[in-house]
Amino acid sequence: MNDSRALRIRIIATAREMNALDINRGKSGNVSARIDSGFLITPSALPYDETKPEDVVSVDFGGKATGRRKPSSEWRFHRDIYAARPEVRAIVHAHSPFATALACLDRDIPAFHYMVAVAGGSDIRCAPYSTFGTQALSDHAVAALAGRKACLLSHHGMIALGASLAAALALAVEVETLAEMYCRALQMGEPALLSRQEMEIVVAKFADYRSG
Ligand SMILES: [Zn+2]
Repeated sequence: MNDSRALRIRIIATAREMNALDINRGKSGNVSARIDSGFLITPSALPYDETKPEDVVSVDFGGKATGRRKPSSEWRFHRDIYAARPEVRAIVHAHSPFATALACLDRDIPAFHYMVAVAGGSDIRCAPYSTFGTQALSDHAVAALAGRKACLLSHHGMIALGASLAAALALAVEVETLAEMYCRALQMGEPALLSRQEMEIVVAKFADYRSG
């Protein structure tokens, strides 16, 4: 896909919707979409309500940014995810409260609920902590996302991937919902987990559902 005003508008709309859905607050998250030369990403330190299509920043795979603003400080993991995962067309990164609460305890989301399979496997991993914006954080995120479409970031937030902006946002909402359920279940005890076989059945059913 080429850089276009329409795509820039959709990126800003997705970022605003992320806050309207309460999976992110203020300026902390970011949103990107793949283009032929790299990706378009929300700018650094600008409220989404004040962001204009011209403020969205184009970044190439070498990390060179083009635009009147600086790209989000997290552009590195967006670049590395697009480079590692050709099927990914959009990325939503949010500091959603429940996913982040789990990430602050360095907890993966295990197979406590069958919907965990929506992220592609039997768990949603939590990537180890590194300073925001660093190559180390990006490397941890790409590793935690292996075979998955979402991960948590220790003491930080979460990342959701999609074949479209709408799919990435929907997955981010799903991950936050699962994180909330898991946090609430943990308040009452340690939930039993579904078996690997059960989760494999659900992963296969979801793959079927998507192709059917
Ligand atoms: Zn962040």
